[in-house]
Amino acid sequence: MPDFKSDPQLSGGGESRDFLREIVRRDMLAGAYDGRVVTRFPPEPNGYLHIGHAKSICLNFGVAREFDGVCHLRFDDTNPETEDMKYVESIIRDVRWLGYDWGEKLFFASDYFEPLYEFAARLIRDGKAYVDSQTEEEIREHRGTVTEAGRESPYRDRSVEENLDLFARMRAGEFPDGAHVLRAKGDMAASNMKMRDPLLYRIRHATHYRRGDDWCLYPMYDFAHPLSDAVEKITHSICTLEFENNRAIYDWLLDNLFQEPRPHQYEFARLNLDYTIMSKRKLLELVEEGLVSGWDDPRLPTIAGMRRRGYTPEGIRLFAARIGVDKSNSRVSMDLLEDAIRDDLNARAPRVMAVLRPLKVTIANYPEGKVEWLEAPHWPRDIDKEGSRKVPLSREIFIERTDFLENPPADWIRLRPGGEVRLRSAYFIRCEEIIRDPATGDAIELRCTYDPDSLGKPAKGARKKTTAAQWVSASHALPAEVRLYDRLFTTADPESAGEGRSFRDFLNPGSVEVLTGCMLEPGLADASPGDRFQFLRHGYFIADEADSRPGSPVFNRIVDLKDRYRLQPGK
Ligand code: ATP
Ligand code: MG
Repeated sequence: MPDFKSDPQLSGGGESRDFLREIVRRDMLAGAYDGRVVTRFPPEPNGYLHIGHAKSICLNFGVAREFDGVCHLRFDDTNPETEDMKYVESIIRDVRWLGYDWGEKLFFASDYFEPLYEFAARLIRDGKAYVDSQTEEEIREHRGTVTEAGRESPYRDRSVEENLDLFARMRAGEFPDGAHVLRAKGDMAASNMKMRDPLLYRIRHATHYRRGDDWCLYPMYDFAHPLSDAVEKITHSICTLEFENNRAIYDWLLDNLFQEPRPHQYEFARLNLDYTIMSKRKLLELVEEGLVSGWDDPRLPTIAGMRRRGYTPEGIRLFAARIGVDKSNSRVSMDLLEDAIRDDLNARAPRVMAVLRPLKVTIANYPEGKVEWLEAPHWPRDIDKEGSRKVPLSREIFIERTDFLENPPADWIRLRPGGEVRLRSAYFIRCEEIIRDPATGDAIELRCTYDPDSLGKPAKGARKKTTAAQWVSASHALPAEVRLYDRLFTTADPESAGEGRSFRDFLNPGSVEVLTGCMLEPGLADASPGDRFQFLRHGYFIADEADSRPGSPVFNRIVDLKDRYRLQPGK
């Protein structure tokens, strides 16, 4: 088990002193809850988790770790229409993969239907809740507006007996959907609209993925959530800012049904990430409409997608720690996420050579049939790791097409006619002749010579102004498919697409580029699905978990080496 408390990445913030941790610290010092800290992560199993959820997971599990507390994983599954066991399974897998553990504390709100029903009955008996038989439209009309008080329901003064009877019959299935609802007796003139007799229960004749047809009476989020927190003895119930106004209901319910110390709700700003979307409904649309290849499409901000893309849990936790938690909503640049992923991969991904767009080079003065196995380091000098492998050099090699230009600008540091470049971990070569496609005139091969004295010697003179190019021996090269990913959308905030436009209109048609016929150094034949490398000068790559096979690898680019994007609208 990793050491969470001493590792700021794992704890999700280490010594960070954000306002939530201040509150928890204050409560600890004051002896509230007898020093207990219990948080929870409460996903609804109606979709896959995404990077926004990861922020909440790192926060809730991170706070619990730092304060010797526990964090519950609770499925908030009170809505029969959209929930499914496959989402429960994916969520469990994703939270575990992120590196967090809930021990025995796995809960389902749908296991609380009975106690929740009893709490509601108690509110009725105390004269604090009533069965309303208005239609949905009537309820809406009576609610009033921000500037105008609402009006009380004509059913508000039903007797306790009548309310209890109706509520029991709602549960027993005597009424169709929408015939009645249970409401709290709030204040129809409250300035916080949420307090205008909030709905607590509704009738839904639908099959629940866990409870089947046991229930046709379902609690609303505003009722189920605080009471589930109280049942589990949560201390700090952390949610996103949209629920700020719901806190009044939270407090009202718990003050009426529990005594201090009872759970309290705190809100933080949700994560909004540029060039992607975070709404589960819209992500579901992308998946169901086939606009992406599935929930684990490497372009998606889902945890499953990021895992397939090659992001590491450590990199994601580092990102969460760096963005911190705040009380005002803002957007976060994709660069911040990619920087964290790069920073994590830098010390864990060995360097290897891959030629993605090959150009053949024949080294004319290199003896035919000769093969040299040259020592090439896996790590650059600034990384405190040892390790190297041997790569074969022979007369015919591939270099990167983009490493040669026939008429380059003056500051060109790669190969040009008559110019030199170093083959990485090998010799300098000089371009002597261009072999052309007779039909198009394009260069299809270069004839070069090599300098047998240049191996391992520092470059001097004009050579110092050139770069070292990756290469692979043609007869040893391992052919591979490589997938390069770019942003999924062409605009930073596709969810605010504007009048009459959909986020679909901003899908980036160049979000994936599949390169076949890439040439890799032969040692990569041993790569197992999930292995990560830095392809020198190309970025970080992972052998795809689904499609890669030893001997015929498929690599995904996890992230480029720098935050440069080749995004061209309309590409
Ligand atoms: P839904 O619209 O289905 O409610 P949701 O994104 O809120 O979608 P939940 O399953 O309810 O999904 O979310 C579980 C937890 O994750 C909640 O506590 C929620 O506050 C948190 N969460 C969801 N999205 C984000 C986000 N973008 N940033 C931070 N936390 C988030
Ligand atoms: Mg939600």
